[in-house]
Amino acid sequence: MRLIKSILAIFFSCVITSVYANTSSISEQLQALDELRLKDRIVFSDRLASLKNSLIDEPIEQDDKHKLALLSAWDLVSKGDFNQALKLAEEIEQQASEQLAIRATSLIVNIHTLSFKYTDAFASVEKLINYASSVNDEQLYYQIMGPVILLYSKIERYKQIQQLIGNGLTLTRNKTLRCRLESLGLPSLYHSTSFSIYQEKFNEVNLLCELAAEAMFNLLNIRNHMFYLVEQQQAATALTFYQQYYPQVEQIDYPILTAGFNVAAAKALLQQGQLIAANKLARQAEQILPNDRNDPAVLSTYQVLTLIAQAERNFENLLRYSEKRRDTELAIATEKASQQLAYQLVSSKAQLKEQRIQLLDKDNALLTLERNLYQQQADNRYLLLLLISSLSLVLVALTYRGMTRSKRYRKMAEFDQLTGISNRHHFFQQAKIATHYCQQNQRPLSVILFDLDHFKQINDTCGHAIGDWALQQVVATCRNFMRNSDIFGRLGGEEFAIVLPDCTAYKAEMLAEICREAIAAIETSQLPSGLTLSASFGISEAAQSGYDINVLLDIADKALYHVKRNGRNQVYVSKKQ
Ligand code: GH3
Ligand code: MG
Ligand code: MG
Repeated sequence: MRLIKSILAIFFSCVITSVYANTSSISEQLQALDELRLKDRIVFSDRLASLKNSLIDEPIEQDDKHKLALLSAWDLVSKGDFNQALKLAEEIEQQASEQLAIRATSLIVNIHTLSFKYTDAFASVEKLINYASSVNDEQLYYQIMGPVILLYSKIERYKQIQQLIGNGLTLTRNKTLRCRLESLGLPSLYHSTSFSIYQEKFNEVNLLCELAAEAMFNLLNIRNHMFYLVEQQQAATALTFYQQYYPQVEQIDYPILTAGFNVAAAKALLQQGQLIAANKLARQAEQILPNDRNDPAVLSTYQVLTLIAQAERNFENLLRYSEKRRDTELAIATEKASQQLAYQLVSSKAQLKEQRIQLLDKDNALLTLERNLYQQQADNRYLLLLLISSLSLVLVALTYRGMTRSKRYRKMAEFDQLTGISNRHHFFQQAKIATHYCQQNQRPLSVILFDLDHFKQINDTCGHAIGDWALQQVVATCRNFMRNSDIFGRLGGEEFAIVLPDCTAYKAEMLAEICREAIAAIETSQLPSGLTLSASFGISEAAQSGYDINVLLDIADKALYHVKRNGRNQVYVSKKQ
């Protein structure tokens, strides 16, 4: 009996071990694949296919089945098949255990973001954030929050990004995860702090990712860094990075890296006046541009190629690239507006009515895509000028040199130093062109004038520096909602105006409402309690007041004054005189 028992025991333990060995090996393979997907998407895809083949007739545990499906969905995303990927991810979300289901939700957010469906993406974000707040597993946190951080980067919510990354960093000492998390935060740091703070962090993350052998993340950081260096007029440093890392980029062979590196270097070369070399690299980038127009490589490539065509007096190319550049700019602007609006829609703070947003969303898309004719006319005039001047080589050379040299001075003269929008003089110049164009073409036009409420109090209580900070926040917030053709200027102090071509007072009122709510929602927790930000808005419309910008502003000012007398923090449209 005892013998039988021990034989049975050995038998069972063998069965158990073999079953365990089997599941463990599938699990391990799935785990390894999960790691691989962020390192080498081509090898990942091949291995996934062969694992699936080998499992066709094998029994597989439910959990592993869902893990495999999740990896397949991820594979479909990386191949651009968003529809199939979404279907699969939604199935997993319905059927899998809690943890896998939440990972599926996170993938769904990623798919919606990549296919520009921001309202859908934001719909699941809150669920992810709530879930992640109780997650202790470092890997899981990263897997869930990675897509959320990327989505927030798109709408420039820098503070929230840093917070989410900070939470993740407290969970882990693992170099790989730290490198990935910190990498996601670098662009927001560049945009929200000084260059030197960003630079210090970049060096730290660069070292960290090298130590963790996270080539993909490291190279993406370096690609962005090169763009930033060019923006900071540090072309030589950017080129040093290019030379050092380009061999690695070629090895990885990923379009967003290769195109990005080449065009960033082309920009640097252009800054140094090396036209031929810049042209070569920009052309190389053009061949493999990624589909996502928001990728910095896309717009930069067309910018560089336009500048080169100008300098070379190649008018055919100039026309071609100017068009592509403008199309890209328009697409980015439209997308930016819909991202922000989608965010507002789901953000409980803003409490905007869905209907109103949909209306504006549609309107924005239509208006933005409708060619901005006066801009086009101006461009055509410029082309004509170049054509005429092509008669004289010297003149073209001088125009180009003058153009690049004077660009910085012009920028200084046209834009307000504190907020970056048009100063009073430039605003009036642009406003006159816009009103003239709309009058000639019988298009509607509206003007919004707004003034911050009790701003003196903020200055007096918190100091001028905080006052300046508030002005910057207000401008950055409102800018999110503007189209390319809108003219936004600081008329003085804390008074701002927006000229909206092709826009009736009804739509201007909606825009003003959105800006008003967004200003009131600006985070002011660092200000002494009780102090909040708000603004009062007055609106005038050409259909009632005519197309004279001075009259339009005067009438908008009366409407604004009406709000100031009636409690502030409201929008008022001037009624028929
Ligand atoms: P109201 O709601 O009636 O508009 O009240 P207010 O306090 O905003 O009144 P007012 O428009 O008269 O005050 C404007 C203040 O804005 C005065 C000045 O201290 C401040 N200001 C103007 N320009 C700047 C600037 O560039 N930076 C800072 N920090 N403050 C400025
Ligand atoms: Mg004021
Ligand atoms: Mg004022």
